[in-house]
Amino acid sequence: MPRPSRLVWRSDLGWQPNSPASSSDPKNGLVIHYDSADQNLANRAHADCVAYWNRTRDFHVNGNGWADIGYSWFCCSHGHVIEGRGLFKTQAAQRGANSTHYSATLALGPNDPITDAQIEAVRELRAWLMEPETSIAGDVFGHRDFNSTSCPGDAAYRLVRDGTFAQPPGNIKENDVPTYVSVDKTDGSRREELAPHQWQQVYFDSNNSSGAADHHGDGDWPSLLRGPADYTGDVSLRLSDVPPGTECQARVVEVAKQDDDWVVVERGYPVEFTGSNGDTFVTIPASGYVATDRRLRVEVTHFGSEESTPTVVGGKVRFQLWER
Ligand SMILES: [Zn+2]
Ligand SMILES: [Zn+2]
Repeated sequence: MPRPSRLVWRSDLGWQPNSPASSSDPKNGLVIHYDSADQNLANRAHADCVAYWNRTRDFHVNGNGWADIGYSWFCCSHGHVIEGRGLFKTQAAQRGANSTHYSATLALGPNDPITDAQIEAVRELRAWLMEPETSIAGDVFGHRDFNSTSCPGDAAYRLVRDGTFAQPPGNIKENDVPTYVSVDKTDGSRREELAPHQWQQVYFDSNNSSGAADHHGDGDWPSLLRGPADYTGDVSLRLSDVPPGTECQARVVEVAKQDDDWVVVERGYPVEFTGSNGDTFVTIPASGYVATDRRLRVEVTHFGSEESTPTVVGGKVRFQLWER
């Protein structure tokens, strides 16, 4: 395996070619990190990755007083491997293993999508480091294997554990990496008062995810995701003022644009629930395939009296989504 196909040296960034960090021979494998802030770099130009890496170095050197940027390498959503301290250097990355393992930090926050190109960058880096000059062990770890930390985030850590990063490069399966959809109805959102026997769409005002296939682009009624995509996950709703014992139902629906309106074209099986004292909660498990040009939304209704006004006051949507 030659050098990673999109390798960027520190000298390419105008940094001194040889890191001033102390020397070592980190042979025992590769430790995956993330930068822990949602940068949305997967949806931005690569120049923003380079700017971010420069800011990180400035923070580590001038903020933390370290000899250099803390990490050995940086793997971005566009598939670039950017040198940090580089080869044969001790790091400030994983306490207790800074001189025994190389570190690769993903340009990634907790809700950022991991791209295929990013996985491929890690695979290329690992394969290169396993070659004779450095001859590292092929083992891949997460930062949390060494220190008490959430790093590298649940999504990347899953790929550490299931061996995805330790595959040879050139083997990315099409769309084997899900996008995480995280959409909320916050306290500040509009509230839906329900009329009996009428399905009411639920408005979600806050999008925490950054993938292309989710919450954007529907104007007044953002959808949970857009097709073509497979998805699986849960919708949770919180309602107030549901009289105890009042029967309610909630369901996911697919909508499609007809003339200028989004209309319901497919209905999932409803989940039944009843009102309780205080707030009423329901969770709707949902999975399936949403076709091209269709969107996914949530509806709820009640079968109580005209006098009651059950109101949807909160909600969360957590899906994994595979764009097709
Ligand atoms: Zn870390
Ligand atoms: Zn990039």
